[in-house]
Amino acid sequence: MKLLSKRKLLRVLQYLPIAIILVFNATEKKGFLLYNNKLVEGANLLGPKISYFRVIDGWDWVIGTGFHTNRVLTFIKEKEKMLVAQGDEDLLKLLGLTLPFSLILMFLTVIVGRRVYRHFVTLEGQVIDDFERLKLSRNEMQYMAKYDQLTDLPNRMQLTENIEKLIALSKLQNKKAAVVFVDLDDFKHINDQYGHAAGDQLLRQIGQRFEGILSNYDCVSRFGGDEFIFCFSMLDNQEGAKCKVRQIQTLFMSPFLLGGVAVVTKCSIGVSIYPDHGANSEELISKADIVLYKSKEQRKGDVMFYNADINQQVQYNTLLENQLNRAVKRNEINVVYQPQINTETQEIESVEALCRWYNPELGIVSPLEFIPVAERIGVIHDIGDYVFHLACRDTLALMPNGKNAIGVSINISPKQLARIDFEQRVMSIVQRSGIDVERVTLEITENIFIDDLATVSPVLQRLRAQGFGISLDDFCTGYSSLNYLNNLPISEIKIDRSFVDKLLNNKQSDTLVKAIIAIGSSCHMKVVAEGVETLEQHEKLKEYSCDLLQGYYFDKPLNIDDLIARYAEKKEEISH
Ligand code: C2E
Ligand code: MG
Ligand code: MG
Repeated sequence: MKLLSKRKLLRVLQYLPIAIILVFNATEKKGFLLYNNKLVEGANLLGPKISYFRVIDGWDWVIGTGFHTNRVLTFIKEKEKMLVAQGDEDLLKLLGLTLPFSLILMFLTVIVGRRVYRHFVTLEGQVIDDFERLKLSRNEMQYMAKYDQLTDLPNRMQLTENIEKLIALSKLQNKKAAVVFVDLDDFKHINDQYGHAAGDQLLRQIGQRFEGILSNYDCVSRFGGDEFIFCFSMLDNQEGAKCKVRQIQTLFMSPFLLGGVAVVTKCSIGVSIYPDHGANSEELISKADIVLYKSKEQRKGDVMFYNADINQQVQYNTLLENQLNRAVKRNEINVVYQPQINTETQEIESVEALCRWYNPELGIVSPLEFIPVAERIGVIHDIGDYVFHLACRDTLALMPNGKNAIGVSINISPKQLARIDFEQRVMSIVQRSGIDVERVTLEITENIFIDDLATVSPVLQRLRAQGFGISLDDFCTGYSSLNYLNNLPISEIKIDRSFVDKLLNNKQSDTLVKAIIAIGSSCHMKVVAEGVETLEQHEKLKEYSCDLLQGYYFDKPLNIDDLIARYAEKKEEISH
């Protein structure tokens, strides 16, 4: 069979009443023949037909077959219907499966949602509660930051603010303001006697009474412990402040009821005035505090106003404190020695080491002035160690160790004694210097508090056992001399200068000196008389058998070079 090209076939089909479409594959010799059914009678009902033919090589045969498109369409439609039906069925199945699942899911979502909601509501409540609590505690903290919990009065933080406001008000009106520092006398005593609860009660009652005298231009606050500070503003003059102070004092006239017990207490007061003594709260409080301290020092229950003299004194004290802090480092502390003469032999038996301080700004400062300051500011330990070291070194320079070698008495402050490492400190100084411990006497005063005796006594016992002498200085000037003699390992007593002074013209002093010497001799303690200034005193003390004499009659305190020269001179004197 002749092959037709597709284009040719289409051209033929344009003109032929019968349409024959031949799609022929030349290599495989097979194709589809489509013809118009108009020419094929009877085939009309079946619709167009698609035929397939194949040329069988060698046989010259063409084998063909075909199918009606309508049948295919019908088949497809049926299949379509079937698929739709099956689809519906599947959809139904799917719905059947997913619907309950969705419902369960919805149900669960609702339950969980509700629970979450309820949880959320509870949490929200808790958060609101927490916020409320936070707000409350913030308010409480703000209150606590500004008010004293015990008395409900403003505390020191709020006080500064209040004073500044009142100062500003007074300044605006060209008036004065008074800062009044009040400190209760013997509050510790009330606490000890009636208990701390009673002490608190007293502070509360005082706070209430204080509030009662305030005008719109005044304030009061608890500064701490038993200290209160008032500020009275809009005052015309200092007289106005005095009037307010009298009001405060009147409040203490009626007793306070503490747990049914009527207790009377007093207070000391220090006052500073704006603008005379300071321009701000800090300055005024500090100056009122200074005069309060002074008034307490002078007489409890007193009132003191700040003034120029006090100002000068305060400035001097501040300078003294500052300079004293650096005195040891700058080598400003020195030691002089006053001989103690054996009454019988007239020989120097020992010396008392007395410290001296020369400062370029302050000049020579007496130990009576700077030792208490050194005790207060704590430099007494450094000064004490330094004096101890110099005294040991110089005494060795005066005479090496040996039988009857000159001894040295060193004054020890009660503050030094109370220090836990005192024993170790003095032992180490003595060992480093190389002086025989038996040559060193520790002079202690009667100013040690009775409470401290229990701690001090074993320390002194141990030091005494090591060989140190223990001397009780200024004997009979304190209030429990005999108690000290009884409880401390005393090896020597020193009759105070005040008794020696009156020895010849005061019967009582004479009797006392005799009694002290008798006590010393019966207790096997050496007795030293201080402040011997005259031959008569010397002779009287010799008559009473006082062991050692110390005073200007023999020698004033000497520096080490003068002492060495004096000693050589004395030896010469005696040998002739
Ligand atoms: P104190 O221990 O009773 O010393 C005796 C004081 O009397 C010394 O005064 C001495 O110079 C003075 N004095 C001695 N003989 C006479 C005299 O015949 N007439 C007069 N009017 N006075 C005489 P100073 O040196 O001024 O010492 C005063 C006090 O300072 C000492 O009294 C002592 O308590 C203390 N002190 C001195 N040096 C030290 C020290 O290094 N440490 C400690 N903690 N206190 C010391
Ligand atoms: Mg002394
Ligand atoms: Mg003395």
